Amino acid sequence: MSKIYLSPPHLTGKENTYIQEAIEKNWIAPLGHNVDGFEEEIAKYTGVSGAAAVNSGTAAIHLALSLLNVKAGDIVFCSTFTFVASANPILYLGAEPVFIDSEPDTWNMSPSALVRAFQQAEREGILPKAVIVVHLYGQMAKMDEILEICNQYNVPIIEDAAESLGSTYKGKQSGTFGKYGTFSFNGNKIITTSGGGMLISDDVTAIEKARFLASQARDPARHYQHSEVGYNYRLSNILAGMGRAQLQELDEKIRLKRSIFSRYKDELSFIPGIQFMPDLEYTISNRWLSVMTVNEKATGLSISDMIMALEKENIEARAVWKPLHLQPLFKGKRYYSHQEEINVSEAIFTSGICLPSGTALTIEEQYRVINSIKNLVKVRV
Ligand SMILES: *Cc1c(COP(=O)(O)O)cnc(C)c1O
Repeated sequence: MSKIYLSPPHLTGKENTYIQEAIEKNWIAPLGHNVDGFEEEIAKYTGVSGAAAVNSGTAAIHLALSLLNVKAGDIVFCSTFTFVASANPILYLGAEPVFIDSEPDTWNMSPSALVRAFQQAEREGILPKAVIVVHLYGQMAKMDEILEICNQYNVPIIEDAAESLGSTYKGKQSGTFGKYGTFSFNGNKIITTSGGGMLISDDVTAIEKARFLASQARDPARHYQHSEVGYNYRLSNILAGMGRAQLQELDEKIRLKRSIFSRYKDELSFIPGIQFMPDLEYTISNRWLSVMTVNEKATGLSISDMIMALEKENIEARAVWKPLHLQPLFKGKRYYSHQEEINVSEAIFTSGICLPSGTALTIEEQYRVINSIKNLVKVRV
C-alpha cells in the first residue's frame, strides 16, 4: 500500500515554464522579473498595495516585527496555539513573547484572553509593540473583536497567515486585516515554492523598507555602505517562478482542500466522540489541513493510539501544534488562558489530530483513511 502523506507538495506542471524561462535568460540570481511578478500577483490576489517576496514565512514575520521597531525588552503578544515559527522572530529581536490562548469557535486567539492581557499590560505601564494573530489550519480568527481591542490600545497587528492564504473573513482576504500580513510557501503549505514567504501591507513605503532590510540593508551609494542591520532574506527568481505557477492554481487547491474536509466530516462526524474543526459564520477557510478532535472516553482511543495505528497502515496523521506556552523553549513566559481555569488550546492539543489533506489525495486514498479510522473505532467500542 502506497504511503499517504499529510500535506505533500502538489506541483501543477506549469512551474517548468517559469523556471525554464529564468534559466534561458540566465537570470536565476535573487530578484528578477519572476520575483516582481510574484509580488504583484500576490498583492493583486489579496487586494493589498504592496508585497515583498522573501525566502521563508519566518523571515516575513521577522521583517514585520523589525519594521514595527520591536527591540530588546519590548513585549509582543502572540497566539499560543501555533507553530514555533510564529514566535521565534520575537526571540531573534530579544523581545518578550506573551502568549494568548484560543477560544472554542475558531481555535484561534481568544478576544477575552487578549483583553485581560492588555488590561494587565496597561496596569504595568508597558503595552506590547505588536500582536501576532495566527489563522490556524486556514481558519480565520475573530478579526472584528481582535481589531477592536488592538485599535483601542493603538497596537498594530501582524497576521501570521502562513496557513491561510486565500481564506476570507466577511469577504476580505486573510493577511489584509493587520498592519502586516505574512505568508509561507514552505513545502507543506497550500501553495509552495519549496521554501519561501511573503510580507504584505497597504503601506508601500514599509514594503519598500522590507525589501531594503531583506537585501542586507545596503544604502544607495556607489560603494558598499550600510547604516543598519540587514538580512539576506530575498526569494530567488527561480523559486518565485514556481510561486507564480502555483498561485494560478490556488483557487482550485482551496476547492480541493475544502472538499477533502467535507468528505471527512460527512463520513466520520457521526461517530460519537469525533468532532471537526468548527466553521465560523462569514468566514471561508482554505482548510489547509483537515483537523478533528477525538474524545478518548467515547472512542476508547487516544490520539497517539490513532496516529500509531494509522502509521501501521502507511497513513501519515499528526498531532496538532503543541501550544507555545507549554514548550520548553518558552518556559516561564506569560500566558493568558481563555477564561479562568479554561485552557482551550491545551484541551485541543490533547485531543486534536490532523488528517491527510494533500490536494493530490485521490478519493480512493481518502477512503482508505476514512475506513481505517472507522475500523479502529469499531474495534475498540
Ligand atoms: C509554516 C508556518 C510558518 C513558517 O513558515 P516558513 O516558511 O516555514 O518559515 C509560520 N507560522 C505558521 C503558523 C506556519 O504554519
